[in-house]
Amino acid sequence: MTSSSTVWFASVRAVRPEADATLPAKLQRLLRKVDLASLCKGRWTPIKMHLGGRLGYSTIHPLLVRMVVQAVKDAGGKPFVTEGGMGAVAEAAARGYTAETLGCPILPAGGPFDRDVVEKPIGFKTLDSASIFGAIARAECLINLSHVKGHGDCGYGGACKNLAMGCVDAATRAKIHALEGGIEWKKDVCVFCGRCAEACDTGAISVNRKEKRFRLFYHHCRYCRHCISVCPAGALSMKDRQGFRDFQEGMALATRAVLEPFQAGRVFHINILTQITMFCDCWGMTTPHVVPDIGLMASDDVVALETASLEAIKTKDFLPGSLIGKWKLGRGRHLFEKIHGKDPWVQVRALERHGLGSRNYTLKEVV
Ligand code: SF4
Ligand code: SF4
Repeated sequence: MTSSSTVWFASVRAVRPEADATLPAKLQRLLRKVDLASLCKGRWTPIKMHLGGRLGYSTIHPLLVRMVVQAVKDAGGKPFVTEGGMGAVAEAAARGYTAETLGCPILPAGGPFDRDVVEKPIGFKTLDSASIFGAIARAECLINLSHVKGHGDCGYGGACKNLAMGCVDAATRAKIHALEGGIEWKKDVCVFCGRCAEACDTGAISVNRKEKRFRLFYHHCRYCRHCISVCPAGALSMKDRQGFRDFQEGMALATRAVLEPFQAGRVFHINILTQITMFCDCWGMTTPHVVPDIGLMASDDVVALETASLEAIKTKDFLPGSLIGKWKLGRGRHLFEKIHGKDPWVQVRALERHGLGSRNYTLKEVV
């Protein structure tokens, strides 16, 4: 029989008009059901989250973070909230995250200069190694607290993205981004007419006719091929869509490098499925939610958690008017693939292939 991991679920829906029937109260009850003491008692416990940026207001609400902090304290742990860059920590108060509101210190995971890292070999194309921030790499336990949303480079950003991109330094993130690709541009054939840029609904291409420059931003590319079909010179071609798959493979490998050193039972993942926007919180902005709020999920199995989270986000719940500019739903099986042209399941299958958990899960609802 295939093993099945437990994924805890708390719905955002309230069955009674009482605070005790709402999401924060359910989070408290959920955290009481989990054996956090085995994970964190007597240990410094990093709570890794994304603190957002600029005008974003859809990252995890400080009240929910505070509840996780309090649960770690109640279990005998010594919590601190942490995020990759010193810049994000320095500006976190603008979005309501302070030591006072959260109930514990907020520390840069890579130290004040983002240089405290531990190098881990990876060996996948441009991702030869990953430099993992010291506050994560040297910790004995970890709470991975992630906001679920879409992501232009891989379709979906949740627990895997919070670890793979959020626990490594800027140079490692650049190496993961360098895995992107798929469309070939021939400089010697291009006449810099700009038709490809005009044909691209998502603004992925920019052409500077004067300076003879062409740039394709894969984050915005949905692999629709419109640019290729309008190019009068045949300068563009697409052999496959491997680039976004490699990006997700790189994320899965970086996630493995982050999680590998932890003893079994020393990592707990929480996904918050509210304010699910089409882009990642890294963009420093909030656009309308693409589906109604769902609630939160949690598990010690990152693969099961990501599977359950992705399955809960359904095309039938899509909220019209929530996409940016001329963006519209395209083809694909998952809603995020219809939005971004990238299959978000690639990262989940890769996580499972690399031994990080199982896609089989049993959902246990906390009411
Ligand atoms: S449409 Fe073709 S020739 Fe024109 S700028 Fe784009 S790539 Fe170059
Ligand atoms: S494939 Fe489509 S989304 Fe990608 S650059 Fe070309 S026109 Fe834009």
